[in-house]
Amino acid sequence: MRYTKLGATELYLSVIGFGGIPIQRVSREEALEILDACKDEGINFIDTARLYTDSEEKIGEYFRARGREGWYIASKSAARDYEGIWRELKTSLANLACSYLDLYQLHNVASAQEMDRVLGPGGALEALEEAKRRGLIRYIGLTGHKPEILETGVTSGRFHTLQIPFNPLEQQALPLLKKARALGLGTIAMKPLAGGALTAATAALDHIINCGWVDVAIPGMQSLAEVRQNSRVPEMKVSQADKKELEELIAGLGANFCRRCEYCQPCPHGLKIPAIFLFEGYYTRYNLKEWALDRYGALEVKASDCTQCGICESRCPYELPIRQMLKQTAATLEK
Ligand code: SF4
Ligand code: SF4
Repeated sequence: MRYTKLGATELYLSVIGFGGIPIQRVSREEALEILDACKDEGINFIDTARLYTDSEEKIGEYFRARGREGWYIASKSAARDYEGIWRELKTSLANLACSYLDLYQLHNVASAQEMDRVLGPGGALEALEEAKRRGLIRYIGLTGHKPEILETGVTSGRFHTLQIPFNPLEQQALPLLKKARALGLGTIAMKPLAGGALTAATAALDHIINCGWVDVAIPGMQSLAEVRQNSRVPEMKVSQADKKELEELIAGLGANFCRRCEYCQPCPHGLKIPAIFLFEGYYTRYNLKEWALDRYGALEVKASDCTQCGICESRCPYELPIRQMLKQTAATLEK
């Protein structure tokens, strides 16, 4: 493992961190095993969020069982006002069994209005700055998907870190990452594998941690094999075959693909949108047709059950044409 300073903070993080979304999908026992494996491999940074259902609680159980020593822990909240942040931070501290957190971030600030609200009087940032003064958090971070919105926060001088999607397929954040770096913010790449779409994980992570603009990449990991594969990338030489596989994947994906962030959920009609697109991807791109049809067939609610209400599209941070994509999926997998 390789370690680096997170911007101008005093946090020395492994360049591969642990993204806390997928442990929602594993049992508590498996979550402990996965975090044990991370520690064995030298990973020392965990990123989670209040919105990731029981992710904080599972990590808290791990800390209760093994201790927090040697770890840097980050969480985040979607609250936008002073009182909301205090409520959320207290919950995060209790869930994570910690007396303080290394980093607390504003989760997915998605519009200019939200940015004004968090920066303004009575906004979320006031509470975070007070929490920092009281020693409950060490640093304050900003996360989101839209560089043009986040830029105001990055240049405000009030945040210590920026977390934004960045991978070989999605490079829109590069100018903002450069600006953040120049201003001394730590930079964290979320969705380093584009939500699982970039199956050439080794080449993708290698690209990110060696691009010069990202301190830490935080792939979500839900198996011991993923932990071992991802954590060894900093010490590996990536083969030409892996690089070629990555190039071919990028050429085949285009812009309209699901990153499995789940922000579009729940659908009022029960469509499991990210799972539907996952199976469609396996069918059309990864030559796993039978497997994909089998899994898709087991879903109770299918793409063709979409009523085209459009609620999901208003929530998708990538502004995907979900309804149109579902029609296409139904035509492909239900023919
Ligand atoms: S458009 Fe379809 S998938 Fe989206 S919320 Fe409505 S019913 Fe669900
Ligand atoms: S459709 Fe959009 S919001 Fe839903 S999981 Fe995919 S990328 Fe995320």
